[in-house]
Amino acid sequence: MDNNNFDDASKEILEWVSEYLKSVEMYPVKSQVKYHEVYNQLPDSAPSTPEDFKNIFNDFQNIIMPGITHWQSPNFFAYFPANSSVPSILAEMLTSALGAQCMKWETSPSAAELEEKVMIWLRDMIGLPKNFIGVIQDTASTSTLASIITAREYHSDFKINKEGFSGNERYRVYCSTETHSSIEKAVKIAGIGRDNLVKVAVDENFAMIPAELEKAIESDINKGFKPLCVVAALGTTGTTAIDPLKEISALKKKYNFWLHVDAAYLGTALILPEYRWMIEGIDEADSFVFNPHKWMFTNFDCSAYFVKDKNVLLNTFEIIPEYLKTRSDNVANNYCDWGIPLGRRFRALKLWFVIRSFGVEGLKEKVRYHLKLAKDLYEKISSKNDFQILAPLNANVVCFRYKPGNIIDENMLNILNEDLMHKLNNSGKMFLTHTKLNGKFTLRIVIAQTNVEERNVNDAWELIKQYSDELKEIN
Ligand SMILES: *Cc1c(COP(=O)(O)O)cnc(C)c1O
Repeated sequence: MDNNNFDDASKEILEWVSEYLKSVEMYPVKSQVKYHEVYNQLPDSAPSTPEDFKNIFNDFQNIIMPGITHWQSPNFFAYFPANSSVPSILAEMLTSALGAQCMKWETSPSAAELEEKVMIWLRDMIGLPKNFIGVIQDTASTSTLASIITAREYHSDFKINKEGFSGNERYRVYCSTETHSSIEKAVKIAGIGRDNLVKVAVDENFAMIPAELEKAIESDINKGFKPLCVVAALGTTGTTAIDPLKEISALKKKYNFWLHVDAAYLGTALILPEYRWMIEGIDEADSFVFNPHKWMFTNFDCSAYFVKDKNVLLNTFEIIPEYLKTRSDNVANNYCDWGIPLGRRFRALKLWFVIRSFGVEGLKEKVRYHLKLAKDLYEKISSKNDFQILAPLNANVVCFRYKPGNIIDENMLNILNEDLMHKLNNSGKMFLTHTKLNGKFTLRIVIAQTNVEERNVNDAWELIKQYSDELKEIN
């Protein structure tokens, strides 16, 4: 295939994509294939001669498609979403056609300058202070890793980057028991050591208890540790619990740790004035991450990472070998120095397309609609005797379980709810996932897919009631 074949092949693909977007609801939401069902249909070695586009595309439809879980289905209520939207898809097409490597300003000035501008838009849209400056990373995991490494360098006076660990460092990092696994991963990779991650207890709303944080810090200082970093979660993965940033910020003033805010999912809600209370105290934070690739309708990957002191970040990551030196190094943003990878995709383009196509008001409207759908469902579940709500509704994640009056054994309830979840997901009609809260198997329904409508949520709720009734009869 070369550029001359593009018209015919792309026409076919575009027709397929257009049809897919319109009919995505027709597919089973969670792929129903068995382990290695896809693998076993693929030849054992690569073809030695060119294959026809028609054959490749046929195999895509017949072999690959059945093994796809449809994250863009409005009946997708699992995990957190990885939303796309039409403007984002179109921009991704352009990005792949340009195929630009956006490491430095000189390797594509538009990519660097659009990123610089779009991150200012985004900062202002979510109400971060004007002295924060942003860069697009691939994921929140990478952003958080960058933050913890920066904290390490800041507190070691950039010595660990230069000399390695001396063996005398005794750093501690703190987060709540509910925070995301990416923090533990970052602590491992940054050389701090998993044993030095202190998980602070949470209150009945699954939010960090600041008094417990202070107790842990005091006790560590007495033992000769240095409190390096605290990660506050705005919207935990389990229940969207919101750590009290204001109180944690007050502790920062006292103990001078690096304060990182992980709002990977719920950060999008900050475009709404009614959610701005979450970032009271943000002036004290050193870094902040949220993922437009979750609830801001921008294709994965697009993680917005903001820092207060750009120079600390650059001092931590910048490396300029001879072959990468350019004349603009002193003036332009060379984003390869703002994080871990050298190579970077042109990710600002899709964000720009999305923000312009929706408009800030359009984004707010969609986000508010999702919040309303979640509230309606929460109320329906609350009012049913056979169901139990297991976490407060902070946004659009409803945590609940089936709890028929005749079953009180916790173990049996766990098994029952796990069965219910698999039954729902095997139906292909909806997809939801779970968490464990205080030992209870908890169903989690996330209402945030780009195209979700009231009827999708209603259908899901009817199915949940129907299947749970059927399970009750068996038990
Ligand atoms: C999703 C999520 C992450 C990880 O996001 P990636 O971009 O997939 O690395 C981290 N923290 C929270 C709170 C999340 O919800």
